[in-house]
Amino acid sequence: MPIEPGVVEVEFNGIGVGRGVAIGPVAWMSPPPPEPSTAASGRGPELELERAQTAAAEVARELRRRAASVEGAAAEVLEAQALMLEDPAVHASVGEHVARGATAERAVFEAFAGYRELLTGMGGYLAERAADLADVSQRVIAELSGAPAPGVPDPGHPFVLVAHDLAPADTATLDLDRVLAVVTLEGGPTSHTAILAREKALVAIVGADASALMEGETVIVDAENGRIVRDPSDDEIAAAVARQEELAAEATAPIEPGRLADGTPVPLLANLGDPAGAEEAVRLGAEGVGLFRTEFLFLGSEVAPSRAVQEEAYERLLAAFPDRKVVVRVLDAGADKPLAFLGGRHEENPALGMRGIRALRRTEPVLRDQLDALAAAAARTHARLEVMAPMIATVEEAAWFAEIAHGAGLPVAGVMVEVPAAALLADRLLAAVEFASIGTNDLTQYTMAADRLLGEVAELQDPWHPAVLGLVGAVGAAGAQLGKPVGICGEAAADPLLAVVLVGLGATSLSMSPSALAGVRAGLLRHSAADARAIAEAALAADGSASARSAAKAASDARR
Ligand code: PEP
Ligand code: MG
Repeated sequence: MPIEPGVVEVEFNGIGVGRGVAIGPVAWMSPPPPEPSTAASGRGPELELERAQTAAAEVARELRRRAASVEGAAAEVLEAQALMLEDPAVHASVGEHVARGATAERAVFEAFAGYRELLTGMGGYLAERAADLADVSQRVIAELSGAPAPGVPDPGHPFVLVAHDLAPADTATLDLDRVLAVVTLEGGPTSHTAILAREKALVAIVGADASALMEGETVIVDAENGRIVRDPSDDEIAAAVARQEELAAEATAPIEPGRLADGTPVPLLANLGDPAGAEEAVRLGAEGVGLFRTEFLFLGSEVAPSRAVQEEAYERLLAAFPDRKVVVRVLDAGADKPLAFLGGRHEENPALGMRGIRALRRTEPVLRDQLDALAAAAARTHARLEVMAPMIATVEEAAWFAEIAHGAGLPVAGVMVEVPAAALLADRLLAAVEFASIGTNDLTQYTMAADRLLGEVAELQDPWHPAVLGLVGAVGAAGAQLGKPVGICGEAAADPLLAVVLVGLGATSLSMSPSALAGVRAGLLRHSAADARAIAEAALAADGSASARSAAKAASDARR
């Protein structure tokens, strides 16, 4: 909304990551170095090339030094950035620019700009990785010109970091004792900033309209509501502190199996993409795994992973959950998660193309290999392995998958309900398999016809929409009728109030990022099964996402 001259904005909005609240003074990220001049070099190509190479090597060394001091996704991001600096295509491009007379600074700028354009043009997940390249390029240019590396400021006290688009290298290594929250002007819910913030349980808002924030001013960052409140009143600060205390109490509450207030069990499971996350999930009380995204293990692979490599990864995962349910999803390639070995070709509408089960049917030996590897890993461990197929749209696909899974010695095979057609025929789909798990991320994308990667339609990408809830209810009813479990494994399950609604609509288990378990556990304990049904009815009767949310909130408050 355009702001009238003289009117000071008191609140900014963006997409919240998680549910945290932080209060503190703003500190802006150090600015990137200015764009290098196009004037010809006076040093000659050889010297310029050597300068560029030395600076690139130094920045790669620094990124690796930082990678060694962190773990998990953070280390991977930094290592990936160091690798970008060693990419022969980038080096060749720098060589071409200096040969034409450019300075090392300008040549690095041009080479990375070309690379970025390529990624941006590819759209989706790859376009979001373009920020990684800009950061690498700026670091090398700063190194070359003797400027301080662009990056996180050090005002000498804890602060709310505000950045145009926070580089993954900086997000990965943020000092959580000093950084109270992160606000970025750019970025969508799948940007690296959001991914890493979620992993670090950091209060964050991305894609915020907050360029008017001033250095040093106090703000409240309320991720749950996607709000940044400027110059808060005493009452607003008191409310934020009370909310922080509530969340802290939730996080330290005893870890018990998920259940409603009347004792109805609702198993709380973890979404994982790497066996390395299993230990933390168990520590946070995951009662098993509701979604293991196997494609995350092989995103960079040109060739299909060997049986041995797969068995080792699956065994590590299953060994962490003895006697627990572990639902492994077979490779879900396509759209933002292309897998070269499943034959990703260019498509005009990749979200509607050869994704998920469709890609696996085209390359059936890859699926059979994966199921065999899973069966072998299960035989060596004591977890209760279940397998499920992504992006099922027809009963025939469901039956095809179940037959192959059963044939591989895996008796419990299910389907993900992510396509409205699958939800509408849930009774017939469920008759062909042992269970269903609703992927609300894609189900919302396809119900609302809103690309889940596109910031501009993020408002439509809301699982609270009654149309989405209606489809969830249809699957829940089919599960109850056939006596088959219906889990939820999309991000919707991580919202404590929506979790109650989903249970009221018939979900029998909920799976989420481990950091969300405590909040959902506490949310479920506030209501009985009858309450959950009534709250779900209130949301279903609304005419949009916002009104569904407030109707559920009012119904929940009335029952506490
Ligand atoms: C979903 O679509 O909700 C889901 C859980 O799968 P993914 O997010 O991996 O597409
Ligand atoms: Mg999905």
